[in-house]
Amino acid sequence: MRPLIGIPTRSMVDDYYGVRYVGMGTYTYAVNQAAGAPILIPLDLAEEAERAIYERLDGLLLAGGVDIHPKEFGEEVHPQCGEIDPSRDWTELKLTRWALAKGKPVFGICRGIQTLNVAAGGTLYQHIPAQVENALTHDHKHGAPFNILAHSVELEPGSRVARGLGVTKLEVNSLHHQSVKDVAPGLRVTGRAPDGVIEAVEGTNNHFVAAVQFHPEWLLADDPRMLSLFESFVASAREYHEALALAH
Ligand code: MN
Repeated sequence: MRPLIGIPTRSMVDDYYGVRYVGMGTYTYAVNQAAGAPILIPLDLAEEAERAIYERLDGLLLAGGVDIHPKEFGEEVHPQCGEIDPSRDWTELKLTRWALAKGKPVFGICRGIQTLNVAAGGTLYQHIPAQVENALTHDHKHGAPFNILAHSVELEPGSRVARGLGVTKLEVNSLHHQSVKDVAPGLRVTGRAPDGVIEAVEGTNNHFVAAVQFHPEWLLADDPRMLSLFESFVASAREYHEALALAH
């Protein structure tokens, strides 16, 4: 039985038709490759519909995307804060808080590490070049391929991400201009870039809660360890499903 992995989608305006549509192709591909069953979650649903979908999920994947509105962590908008998607903030923060409260597995990628941290009560740097001294270049998305290795990450030995990848140091891509600032209660830092920027966090209890600032889904073809990271999340979702089934 493949565990059901929910992936909240995003608002997007199509260049030609001016209509909203959904994507998330690389994330669904990665979950499928890792023997999970990905399911996309639309935005702007009735809360009863969100709840009905949430209850059926075995895991929640928080994908990459635009910036979270700083009001969600109690800050004014920095001039260099980027595009925001309030519908997505609303849906993702709610689903994440529900999942954290119940120990449903959560895995965050890029914006997803930020979503996880904000949902749990943490804050973000709104623009690394303006707010982090001597920072490396973390924003490599302008015209470059998404699999360019930008900097190293040092992982805490024994952490979920280190165990998932099977290493404690590796080279990663970097497609972000924001990062975790104050780490939320219930989370801890398990990976950093050489400039100190937080690149991995995880939960402090036994439930699978983990997130990375890099994009493993864009490195699947280059580095087989990246699929192992998705597989460790999907395996936890399967265990969560089986434990619930036993309890009923
Ligand atoms: Mn980075």
